[in-house]
Amino acid sequence: MRDLPPASLPNEQCQIPGQQTSVINYGAEGTGAATNGSHPSPTGTPPLPLPLPHPTGTPPLPRPTPCNPTGSPVVPHRPNRAGTGRDVQSLPMKRQLVSQGSLDPPLSPASRPHSPWGFFDPYDSPEEYVGFAMLPNQVHRKTVKKGFTFTLMVAGESGLGKSTLINSLFLTDLYKERKVPNAEERINKTVDIVKHTVSIEEKGIKLRLTIIDTPGFGDAVNNTESWKPLEDYIDQQFEQYFRDESGLNRRNIQDNRVHCCLYFISPFGHGLRPLDVECMKALHEKVNIVPILAKADSLTAAEMRRKKMKIREEIKQFGINIYQFPEYDSDEEADFKRQDQILKDSIPFAVIGSNIQVESKGRRVRGRIYPWGMVEVENPVHSDFLLLRNMLVRTHMQDLKDVTRESHYENYRANCIQNMTRESISV
Ligand code: GDP
Repeated sequence: MRDLPPASLPNEQCQIPGQQTSVINYGAEGTGAATNGSHPSPTGTPPLPLPLPHPTGTPPLPRPTPCNPTGSPVVPHRPNRAGTGRDVQSLPMKRQLVSQGSLDPPLSPASRPHSPWGFFDPYDSPEEYVGFAMLPNQVHRKTVKKGFTFTLMVAGESGLGKSTLINSLFLTDLYKERKVPNAEERINKTVDIVKHTVSIEEKGIKLRLTIIDTPGFGDAVNNTESWKPLEDYIDQQFEQYFRDESGLNRRNIQDNRVHCCLYFISPFGHGLRPLDVECMKALHEKVNIVPILAKADSLTAAEMRRKKMKIREEIKQFGINIYQFPEYDSDEEADFKRQDQILKDSIPFAVIGSNIQVESKGRRVRGRIYPWGMVEVENPVHSDFLLLRNMLVRTHMQDLKDVTRESHYENYRANCIQNMTRESISV
């Protein structure tokens, strides 16, 4: 059923000061509070939709009121909840009818209440509605208030540009107090796990980003099992989460599970080294591995293509399960499908990092200067940096978290429960 706007209403709207209270009362469904006694609805029954009640602390919704051309306000038809006796009696019947299909014409788009969040307002639609189309807005509001967390692990031998890339990705300086070990210190170097946490805010959205750095990984002369500390760390976070989840207070669990591991591959080798294969195989069932071809500026375009192809083949050959981008639906737009394919074909992401800004065509950009020219970090012709950042932050962060929760953590949890059951049976 289409909506018929009142004939006297022009399209533009204006706010009438002092009328907000009546509008707020209007949202209190079933209280019988009069919204505006001077404007009974033609039928005296409440039309659909009923505006959403306010959650506590929500600022009152400024409901726009249509103005007539003379400037005096024209209040849209609203139900007279106090109404006459006949009206009150007819309410249950009306409710019943409402469940079968609305009979009243809904409010015109101009006179409908508007979403306080603005970005998606189903009330703008001329179709009939009940109001549950606003559910995503409620979820959005709650999650924004809570903030987001993301934990990223970086693994790979020293000097591959891990810290530089992280700083470039999140435009921060996470490694101010870092001490780089000399050659002697590296002989028996053990792998450390260093945690950096920063809170970033962008357009009111808060992200608590945790970077797990693994200095010393692959640096020693004997690197046997040097991935063990990484594996242990991931397991410890799962264990902590499992304990918290099984505890009494489950309300404020801090999620420190590792959502993604950027695994840096040297551009100077011939594909994957044995250490890379062993490490990725040890971690692939526990974390989403995203392979990175480091220091892409040290390769020509042809070398980069060949190296990428070789690494992809080896990943397949050794049965390493790296993070798989979710399959898109067949009804997705062509542009989306193309972007998705580009992303899949770019694995491993060949990146360049830099902590300095250089002048390029009148702009200041992150880049590296060489005697033969300059490379720009964010130039898609020079590196996959932008693709990686968009994937990690803009398009797949939530999916990385979902896969962690639904697949890696579930596996851990199932194993734990199995072991516990076995132990209790054998006792
Ligand atoms: P990490 O030990 O893996 O954290 O490596 P760093 O980020 O400390 O970088 C080691 C050195 O490599 C530094 O001198 C960086 O300036 C340099 N570097 C970082 N990223 C790149 C890159 O993309 N290309 C080149 N050519 N050098 C890089």
